[in-house]
Amino acid sequence: MKFTVHSRGDHDSNVISNNITAYLQEYKLEIDVVEPEIVISVGGDGTMLKAFHKYSHRLAETAFVGIHTGHLGFYADWQPDELEKLVIHIAKTPFKVVEYPVLEVIIRYHDDVTSERYLALNECSLRSSEGSIVMDIEIKGEHFETFRGDGLCISTPSGSTAYNKALGGAIIHPSLPAIQVAEMASINNRVYRTIGSPLVLPQHHTCLLKPSSKMDFQISIDHLTKLQRGVKSIQCRVAEEKIRFARFRPFPFWKRVKESFIAD
Ligand code: NAP
Repeated sequence: MKFTVHSRGDHDSNVISNNITAYLQEYKLEIDVVEPEIVISVGGDGTMLKAFHKYSHRLAETAFVGIHTGHLGFYADWQPDELEKLVIHIAKTPFKVVEYPVLEVIIRYHDDVTSERYLALNECSLRSSEGSIVMDIEIKGEHFETFRGDGLCISTPSGSTAYNKALGGAIIHPSLPAIQVAEMASINNRVYRTIGSPLVLPQHHTCLLKPSSKMDFQISIDHLTKLQRGVKSIQCRVAEEKIRFARFRPFPFWKRVKESFIAD
């Protein structure tokens, strides 16, 4: 099996990355940075986001597993002292794959020619670079509301514990193929009225966001932020692709939620 290790880059993560690489090579596994079958992320959830984006063009052929070198992660669920156990699992057991939904984002521009497609593991967030953003929101082809406020966050179920949670969004189990739209400080008055609650959309519902003027704003896809100009629309829906995690033992999502936010 071909593998690669993606480190956060700090000293501890690099030491663990070097050790796991050496152990897996002793088991005759081959390093392949370009076409790995398994990507071992060493760091935190942010490291897994970066690993996902590096290999998002080959999700069907790549499985991910995370070792956390900080606090417990949502995507990184093995601890450094379990390294040898994990190596034996990777080398010897055909692993079970668990698939999580990801978000497809298509940004179209006013020139009607260019468009960009992204996949997000956590979310796409839209924020103004100055003042409020004003967006018409269409759901499944129908106008739903005009949003005015600080921004919007469209998250995946596994990203629902990240930025979305800080915005008062619900935590969604990643077995549900859905996306969630959460508001950032909406303005509500006679002119602008928003629903005020996070919306959870199923797989077959597309959310189309249309900026109402030719304003500049920031679009973040997970950890990657770009200032966008001339955007006509941002289309969000559950992607056809999924991220595949290699699971060698059960680690229920709600246990992870409890251990991260309530108590060990
Ligand atoms: P960062 O600002 O350095 O760290 C963001 C924090 O979010 C880290 O503690 C990270 O965990 C954690 N995190 C990432 N994905 C998560 C998930 N699915 N569930 C629970 N926690 C998660 O940024 P970054 O490391 O580059 O990560 C980018 C992410 O930051 C974005 O996708 C967004 O979700 C999140 N963010 C959150 C807020 C907020 O909560 N107010 C604001 C902006 C962005 P690790 O320490 O394990 O890496």
